[in-house]
Amino acid sequence: MSECIMCKGNLVDKETNFIADLDNCIIIVKGVPSQVCSQCGEVSYSHEVAIQLEKIVNQMKNAMTEVAIVHYNNVAA
Ligand SMILES: [Zn+2]
Repeated sequence: MSECIMCKGNLVDKETNFIADLDNCIIIVKGVPSQVCSQCGEVSYSHEVAIQLEKIVNQMKNAMTEVAIVHYNNVAA
């Protein structure tokens, strides 16, 4: 089992919400597969998920809305 980079606690697979707070808008991605530390709550993502999140943010920041809420499973390619 992998351990937390912050406190070396156990990481648990869990879906979380990712929030990107940009200059002109806020992007919320719900249901993101992630690992959460059972001890300190630190959230980390796999390499694949991190790349998907970056893609999603790049796509959404061109949408002319102040707050965009998407579900990871609907937007991840
Ligand atoms: Zn931790």
